[in-house]
Amino acid sequence: MNANPNFISCGATDTPDIDIEALRARYEEERLKRHRAEGFAQYIEARGEYEEFFEFDPYTKLPPREPVNDEIDVVVLGGGFAGLITAGRLVEAGITNVRIIDRGGDFGGTWYWNRYPGVQCDVESYTYLPLLEEMNYMPKDRYSYGTEIFEYCQSIGRHFGLYEHALFGTTVEGLQWEESSRRWRVTTRQGDTIRARFVIMAVGPINRPKLPGVPGIKSFKGHSFHTMRWDYDYTGGGFGNPVLDKLKDKRVAIIGTGATAIQCVPNLGKYVKQLTVFQRTPSYIDFRGNMPTDPDWAKKLNPGWHAERMNSFHTGINGIYGPDDEDLICDGWSELNRNVQARRKEMGWPEMGFEELMSLREVEDHRAMERIRKRVDDTVKDPRKAEILKPWYRFLCKRPCFNDDYLDAFNRDNVDIIDVSATKGIEAITEKGIVANGVEHEFDCIIYSTGFESTTDLRRKYGIDTIEGRGGQSLYDYWKDGFRTLHGMSLNGFPGLLWTGWIQGGVSGSTTLMYDQQGRHLAYIIGETMKRGGDTVEPSAEAEAAWVKHVRETFYYDGDFWAQCTPGYNNNEGIEASRYTIFGDMYGPGYNAFDDLIRAWRDEGSMAGMQMVREGQNESV
Ligand code: NDP
Repeated sequence: MNANPNFISCGATDTPDIDIEALRARYEEERLKRHRAEGFAQYIEARGEYEEFFEFDPYTKLPPREPVNDEIDVVVLGGGFAGLITAGRLVEAGITNVRIIDRGGDFGGTWYWNRYPGVQCDVESYTYLPLLEEMNYMPKDRYSYGTEIFEYCQSIGRHFGLYEHALFGTTVEGLQWEESSRRWRVTTRQGDTIRARFVIMAVGPINRPKLPGVPGIKSFKGHSFHTMRWDYDYTGGGFGNPVLDKLKDKRVAIIGTGATAIQCVPNLGKYVKQLTVFQRTPSYIDFRGNMPTDPDWAKKLNPGWHAERMNSFHTGINGIYGPDDEDLICDGWSELNRNVQARRKEMGWPEMGFEELMSLREVEDHRAMERIRKRVDDTVKDPRKAEILKPWYRFLCKRPCFNDDYLDAFNRDNVDIIDVSATKGIEAITEKGIVANGVEHEFDCIIYSTGFESTTDLRRKYGIDTIEGRGGQSLYDYWKDGFRTLHGMSLNGFPGLLWTGWIQGGVSGSTTLMYDQQGRHLAYIIGETMKRGGDTVEPSAEAEAAWVKHVRETFYYDGDFWAQCTPGYNNNEGIEASRYTIFGDMYGPGYNAFDDLIRAWRDEGSMAGMQMVREGQNESV
C-alpha cells in the first residue's frame, strides 16, 4: 500500500448543484469573447528585433571556447528531462560516444530557464521527478520548487556522467543528412560542425517564449522582460529567494495569468509599490496544500513504488477509474475522475456507454468548476476583482493551477487586476506603459508572462532553420500536412533522426514517464543498429505509412470537447482544435497500450519495419 499519508483531500469532493444549460451558454459566450480568427498568429515570435527577450542567458556566463569539429555516435539535442533521461538510457546501454547540446549553461531545460520567483512544479514531485528509485532520491516536498528540480537535473547529469558529454551555451541552427558520410551534419551558431550517426530530438514542447502581438513593445522606455529570463538584477532577490526588494518603489505590470503568472504574482505583490495584473482569461485556481515529505511514509515505500505512482497519475489524468482503481496521488489533477467514480459507485456501477459516461463527466466537470468559482468568492474580498477572477470553461480547457497564495494576493491594496477580455487582449504598449480598454496605464516595469510557442509552425517552434534529410528533403515540408513517423520516434528519409515528445505515440500526462518510455526504446534502436553493423537506421516508407494509417484510424477524436473550450495552447487557440493540440497525433489506445506495443516490437527482435543504412545501400534489418 503506497498511498501517501500526506494526502489531504482524497475521495470525491463536495461540489455544488448547477444549471448545466446556463453554464454551457455562459462558457460559449466567454469563449467567443476571446476567440481570435488569426489563432496563434496573434503572437510575436521572440526573434529578429524581439530576440532580446530570448537570445541571452542571464544565469551563466560560459567562457569562450573554440568551435568543435568532430564526429560522434549520438547527438542529443536538449538537456532537459527528455534529454537527460534518454542520454542516461544510452549510457546504461553502453552507448557512450554521445554529446548533449543545449542552449542553456547547464542541464535542466525548462528548469534551467524558468527561475521566476515562486517557480514550482504543480504536479506532485513523487510522480513528476523521474528516476527517483534509481537515483535513490526522495524530494523534500510534495510539490518541489524550481531550485530543487534544477539541482536534481544536475544530479542526474552527474549520475550518468553526462557532464563530460555536454556542450552548453550552444544553439543548433542546422541538421543536414550527408549521404556521402551517412552522418548528420549538426551546425551551431557557435561555429561547431559535428557529424553524428544519430540525432535525438529532445527539445521539449514549450521552450521559446512568445509575446503578445500588439504594437509598441519596443517603444516602452521602462524595463521589461519575459518570465523565463527573470531579471533579478532589476527586481532584487534571486533564484529560490523571492525577496524582490528592489521593486518597492516600482509600478509593475504583469501580462498573462497562466501557470507561470500564478506563481509569480503572490511574490510580486509582497514587494512592489503597485502591481497590475492584465488578464485575458482567468486560470482555474485550486488548493495546493504543499508540505514536507514525511520520512516515515518514505521509509515504508516498497520497491517499484515510483513507477506505480507515475502510472496512477497517468490513469488519474488520461484514464477513467473503474470500481477497483485507487488514486495514489489524490490531488486536484484527478478530482474529476474521482468524482465520476464516486457517482458511478452511488449508482451501483451500471453499464454505461462512452457517450453516457462523457455526459456524466460533463455534469461533474461543471460542478467541480462551480466549486472553483465559489473558492474565488470565498477568498477574494473585493467583489469586482472576484468576478474578474472566475474561470468560465471546462476542466482541462486550460491548465489547472494550484496555489494557496494567488487569489489572496488580490486582497492586497497594492495589487489590482484589469480584465482585457473585451478587447481580446491588451491593445498596445507605449513609451509609458500599457493600453487596455482604451486607457493608458503607466508603469516602470512590464513583465511578459505570455507563455511559449507551442502549436505554431514547427520551424518557429523548434527555432532550427534547416532540418534536411535524404536528398535535401526539409522536415518542415515533410510534415506540413501532418506528422509521419514510425512509433512517433523515427521517420523515413531522415535516417537516424529520432524523436522524443508528443508525436504519434502513447501520450501521458505523466510526462517524465513518457520520456523514459521513449528513452528506453531509442537506446534499444541505437544499440541494436550498432550491434548489427549499421551506420544508422530508418523506417521503411511502408512501415511508416502503416503506422500513420494505424494512428489515424485509432485516433480518439476529442475535437468536440476542444472546440467548446476557451482559446489556449491546448486547443490551438480554438482553431481546428482537435488536430493541432501540442500533443500531435496521439495513439488512440493510449500510453499503456503503446507501451505494450513497443515492448512487443523489441521482444520480437527483428526491428520490424526498420532498414539499416550502410555504405551504398539501405537494407531491411
Ligand atoms: P500560458 O500560455 O499558460 O499563459 C500565457 C498567458 O498570457 C495567458 O494568460 C494568456 O491569456 C496571456 N496572454 C497572451 N497574450 C495576451 C494578450 N495579448 N493580452 C493579455 N494576455 C495575454 O503561459 P505560462 O508561462 O503561464 O505557462 C505555460 C505552461 O508552462 C503551462 O501551461 C505549463 O504547461 C507550464 N508551466 C508549468 C508549471 C508547473 O508547475 N509544472 C508552472 C508554470 C508553467 P489567454 O489565456 O487568454 O490566452
